[in-house]
Amino acid sequence: ARAQIGVTGLAVMGSNIARNFARHGYTVALHNRSIGKTDALLAEHGGDGDFVRTETVEEFVAALEKPRRVLIMVKAGDATDAVIEELAAAMEPGDIIIDGGNALYTDTIRREAAMKARGLNFVGAGISGGEEGALNGPAIMPGGPKESYESLGPLLESIAAQVDGVPCCTHIGPDGSGHFVKMVHNGIEYADMQLIGEAYNLFRDALGFDAKQIADVFTQWNSGDLESYLVEITAEVLNQVDAKTGQPLVDVIVDAAEQKGTGRWTVKSALDLGIPVTGIAEAVFARALSGSRTQRAAAKGLASGVLGEKPTDVAEFTEAIRQALYASKIVAYAQGFDQIAAGSAEYNWDLHPGDLATIWRGGCIIRARFLNRIKEAYEADPSLPSLILAPYFREAIETAIDSWRRVVVVATQLGIPVPAFASSLSYYDGLRAERLPAALTQGQRDFFGAHTYERIDAEGKYHTLWSGDRSEVQA
Ligand code: NDP
Repeated sequence: ARAQIGVTGLAVMGSNIARNFARHGYTVALHNRSIGKTDALLAEHGGDGDFVRTETVEEFVAALEKPRRVLIMVKAGDATDAVIEELAAAMEPGDIIIDGGNALYTDTIRREAAMKARGLNFVGAGISGGEEGALNGPAIMPGGPKESYESLGPLLESIAAQVDGVPCCTHIGPDGSGHFVKMVHNGIEYADMQLIGEAYNLFRDALGFDAKQIADVFTQWNSGDLESYLVEITAEVLNQVDAKTGQPLVDVIVDAAEQKGTGRWTVKSALDLGIPVTGIAEAVFARALSGSRTQRAAAKGLASGVLGEKPTDVAEFTEAIRQALYASKIVAYAQGFDQIAAGSAEYNWDLHPGDLATIWRGGCIIRARFLNRIKEAYEADPSLPSLILAPYFREAIETAIDSWRRVVVVATQLGIPVPAFASSLSYYDGLRAERLPAALTQGQRDFFGAHTYERIDAEGKYHTLWSGDRSEVQA
């Protein structure tokens, strides 16, 4: 037994992480259900470092130093359960099983409890960065027992992305917390992508820009506050020319977005936790709407109403879109961090939002300059009630607010859908409102269901005798 780490599941993600470990000097035991992928990896990249080829789970487990550390990178769901079961049967108390797949955090909670009962350490680790990140440095969000991080942490930290010498990996918290924060990370990624998409749509339909012109704007934005991986790749995608037609590639791609599920999970969880993640939800629904091809085909030609004039000052409106994007992005992140705080409270995870902002600065899909500001905001006030209230973000929104409103108004007047820009603005207006119509909602609920209400001028719960003499009684 000489391998420090084993990787099972050698599709794109698993093989790239295995190579990443090997390149960092670790001896890596390799295993895959079918030997083909293992041999392909050894044939193509055997020179990356020291690998141990194994065929059976028994051989694989026997190749590992104790306590054994095995990273599972297989398809999320039943496949993961099957692999865990096989491994657990061959491993010994104190060994560590890491699930690096995109598991649903409630599955991770269940699996961690089951493994703990058998004396095994189970670490649900969220890994972000896609193929490229897996090879060159992903962001890693490991949950599970704190003790296991002592033996596992240094390995994971060494293969993770590094920003200013700080690894994009830290122990997140107990059981399902790592996969929970990875899930919210992906939800934020959905919101980020949707907001960028809305900005792109406005350039195209309100200003009449072509793909190349829009690419240039994103390239320019990538040297300011909006600097991020997603803005950078947006410019690359927009600049890509289709070899077949000579058109911008984006113009020949079918406009129906797909999804694998983590955005939907984030919204479902937010509903259960009662956290309004409107930016993420609009992003998930916008993908669903885009994919409703039958309805969309039938709805073409529906009335638009009277449309407004297109903006004439291109430079001014370009800057307005940038401000709207930035402000909406702040809202989406604020909501995501609210969900993390709520999950932390619900499951007693004691999560540290500032740590998440720190490890998301590199490696992962939402990496951005902006995350430094979030990190600083939580350093200054770890119990910040909302990211929006941190002085830096408060000021940023104050600067953006007029433009943000104008962009939503212009989009509405031109009949251009901006669900995430508009709902983020409504969220902001709702949060800062002196009075919300919720007072009326409470009155209605009391009317039809005797659900009671609170008064602004007295303690306790009250009910009006709506079907009686309409006097008020204390409940
Ligand atoms: P896939 O999700 O396509 O999974 C393929 C791998 O799973 C193969 O190694 C396959 O083995 C194995 N597998 C499938 N079913 C079983 C089973 N019943 N028993 C044993 N092994 C099984 O691979 P990816 O590399 O794309 O992703 C791996 C994990 O990482 C997934 O959970 C994914 O959600 C997650 N992830 C993916 C990212 C990405 O960008 N792709 C980013 C972050 C996380 P075989 O070769 O024998 O078929």
